[in-house]
Amino acid sequence: MAKYDVIVIGAGPSGYAAAIRAAQLGMNTACVDKSLGKDGRPTLGGTCLNWGCIPSKALLDASHKYVEAKENFVDFGIDVGELSMDVPRMIAQKDAVVDRLTGGIAGLFQGNGVTQLSGRGKLLAGRRVEFTPHEGAAEILEADHVVLAPGSVPVEIPPTPLTDDVIVDSTGALEFESVPSRLGVIGAGVIGLELGSVWGRLGSDVVILEALEDFLPVADPRIARDALREFGKQGLDIRLGTRVIGAEVTDAGVAVAYQDKDGGKSLTVDKLIVAVGRVPYTEGLLAPDSGVNLDERGFLYVDDLCATDAPEVYAIGDVVRGPMLAHKGMEEGVMVVERIAGHKPLVNYDCVPSVIYTHPEIAWVGKTEQELKADGDAYRVGSFAFAATGRALAGNEGVGLVKLLADAETDRILGVHILGPQASELIAQAVIAMEFGASAEDLGLTMFAHPTLSEAVHEAALGISGNAIHMVNRRKT
Ligand code: FAD
Ligand code: NAD
Repeated sequence: MAKYDVIVIGAGPSGYAAAIRAAQLGMNTACVDKSLGKDGRPTLGGTCLNWGCIPSKALLDASHKYVEAKENFVDFGIDVGELSMDVPRMIAQKDAVVDRLTGGIAGLFQGNGVTQLSGRGKLLAGRRVEFTPHEGAAEILEADHVVLAPGSVPVEIPPTPLTDDVIVDSTGALEFESVPSRLGVIGAGVIGLELGSVWGRLGSDVVILEALEDFLPVADPRIARDALREFGKQGLDIRLGTRVIGAEVTDAGVAVAYQDKDGGKSLTVDKLIVAVGRVPYTEGLLAPDSGVNLDERGFLYVDDLCATDAPEVYAIGDVVRGPMLAHKGMEEGVMVVERIAGHKPLVNYDCVPSVIYTHPEIAWVGKTEQELKADGDAYRVGSFAFAATGRALAGNEGVGLVKLLADAETDRILGVHILGPQASELIAQAVIAMEFGASAEDLGLTMFAHPTLSEAVHEAALGISGNAIHMVNRRKT
């Protein structure tokens, strides 16, 4: 029976980070993953690299470049003439990025000495793992420590059963061969907005049906309100407070029946994307006597340090509580194996950044204003519009704002919320400041290069005490 120091099940961002770090720390490590790529061969990187973060960002970047050329270059005096969009080529470019990055993980496994095992893993009692390769007989492996990182899968809802290529989940929506004239999306969450934006930019008429009355309730209300207005201007028809009750594929397209406060309605689209959330994936993962328990929502139950109820068995990433984000899972993977090696790292769940890669982008970290109100915390607000920053205007990117929330008494930064260009990059400044326990004054006293988008972060921090320079301020402090 082969024996390892660490066996990781799942080679998504959580699992591969854990496996690489464990091997770097000198542990004899194997990583089991069952995923097959588009070519039918084993692939590493899980959802993130194959069907998630990376391919969706490749299409978002491609479609953004298209809109820039089509609508915005003209303002800079650039005439590109007649434009056309070659969708198969865009998809091929996306696939090439995926191949390069998944191949990169294989190279990192090899270089760091991680044993790659392609097939299914099942946790048995006593930290034994049943490994079933894609071809061939199952074998039993043993480990001193097991890390479970099986990830998540899309939620399916009864009114809209998926079909081969008409009613699809996020994976299918990354593979359209042409731009659908009419696109329906169920769910105005992260995936609905990102993939709705991709196809909307390329010419689809996009209708997004969202069950909730509120738009993006996880984001700060001001940011959500301004974002909704911008997405409306871009042509995304977001219908809040709607309940989908059925969908039928006909020759004319998909007939979607839904209800809103005015009663029953219908909509016909060429493609329908179902993006109503993801659920932890634990199918076939655990033998009945593995000792690992699930919580009431189907996540693997873990403590703050990602330990399950079974000794020396850990679980990380989308399959455990907390936001389903690649960077959160990676940090958990590194924390778990470093603790196995005797180090003492922690994951700071109060500082997990969230990003929605629309244009403008939305990014935040820490508390929203509605959370502070609900907690009864006294806070101050500083905000600064990109329309007042030279660099944003120079690039024709003057939409959005930075909003910073600080404790009214201690001035400590409690949350930062951004709608605007490069928000995904700018938010890192807020994460660093909060990790170091910075006050708004600390950021205000820091020098930022001029002209940059980052100056909006600086001015928002100065705004907490009413000291922003590029704003009218009659307070004398
Ligand atoms: P996964 O990435 O799901 O990997 C789990 C792996 O384990 C898979 O390969 C699976 O096949 C394998 N596995 C499962 N069970 C077994 C078993 N029993 N035996 C062997 N192998 C098994 N997050 C971000 O942070 N930023 C983004 O921009 C972003 N964009 C996204 C876009 C889309 C369209 C989607 C769908 C998701 C996106 N996410 C994004 C979320 C991100 O992909 C996930 O949070 C992340 O992939 C979770 O990592 P993980 O390692 O926990 O699981
Ligand atoms: P989500 O939770 O972000 O959004 C789902 C939306 O669907 C919600 O607004 C919900 O109210 C709505 N909804 C649920 N049931 C519905 C129904 N029956 N009819 C209409 N609306 C309904 O989930 P998602 O967009 O599917 O994304 C899943 C996860 O993947 C996210 O939670 C996120 O963690 C991750 N993700 C992250 C990124 C990123 O970081 N940029 C991108 C994509 C996905």
